[in-house]
Amino acid sequence: MIPAAFEYHRPQDMAGVLAVLEEHGDDARVMAGGHSLIPMMKLRMADVPHLIDLQDVGGMSDIDVSADTIRIGAMVTQADIIDHAGLADAAPILREAALQIADPQVRYMGTVGGNVANGDPGNDMPGLMQCLDAMFTVVGPDGERDIPAREFYEAAYMTAREDEEVLTAVTIPAPKGGYAYEKQKRKIGDYATAAAAVQIVKDGGNCASASIAMTNLSDTPVYSEDASNALVGTSVDAAAVDAAVAAMLGDIDPTEDNRGPVAFKNHVAGVILRRAIERAWSRA
Ligand code: FAD
Repeated sequence: MIPAAFEYHRPQDMAGVLAVLEEHGDDARVMAGGHSLIPMMKLRMADVPHLIDLQDVGGMSDIDVSADTIRIGAMVTQADIIDHAGLADAAPILREAALQIADPQVRYMGTVGGNVANGDPGNDMPGLMQCLDAMFTVVGPDGERDIPAREFYEAAYMTAREDEEVLTAVTIPAPKGGYAYEKQKRKIGDYATAAAAVQIVKDGGNCASASIAMTNLSDTPVYSEDASNALVGTSVDAAAVDAAVAAMLGDIDPTEDNRGPVAFKNHVAGVILRRAIERAWSRA
């Protein structure tokens, strides 16, 4: 498939990006790794008369790890996340999840910013970032603002980012405790049928805090406060896990597609979440 004709822009700084966005409005779109946008353009599902390549815009390719926070520039690739030793120590769930995205070819180009900004319910990082309580920084004509990941997703491909804003960084509090990213997919390189991100902090024999989000089971990622709270104060025994799974099944809203009917997706969601909770607890 060949995309419709478009004009290619390659600004050298963010001011240049914002100027093209302002000039062309809805007709302009930024491109990071291009591994979601270009296929959409080729399938004629995205019409982008003005394509703005972000590759030459500096300042968005760093990973900064400090004792309390981790800041990941929007142009950091999934491969960068996998290769960064400091990040793997500070937030191993990021590496565990990134390794389950697509294949190495995609991961060398696909960026964190593109993955979370796209609003594709199948992308793995939005749910992961909700689990980690991330903050997304965007910049636009009115300056910079921060949007919590848990408030960012409105519907499939609809987010709280305005069209003329660019996502520049993702910041997360340094995660504590045990973690797991579990993903069920039909084959290597596929998007999730269901995926779960879980972080659990243990105090003595009990769960002190928990955070749970799931992917590709609604038109947005689903962070479930009820599922997370179902574990808190328990020894994460079978009854608590059952309660967490039941709460999550109440919050997701899967639809039938080529990954299966609704009953199957609910079943897979339960199996995957149970596995993720058990593994996170075993590492807590
Ligand atoms: P692009 O394709 O460049 O952009 C995607 C969208 O985000 C566009 O609308 C663009 O305008 C917007 N955008 C990009 N950067 C910014 C920014 N900084 N600010 C504002 N808007 C921005 N992903 C998964 O999570 N899990 C998978 O299992 C998976 N499997 C895949 C399999 C294949 C075969 C392919 C081709 C892709 C797969 N992907 C998967 C998607 C891949 O991870 C994408 O690369 C990623 O989702 C988008 O990142 P990108 O940098 O390529 O973004």
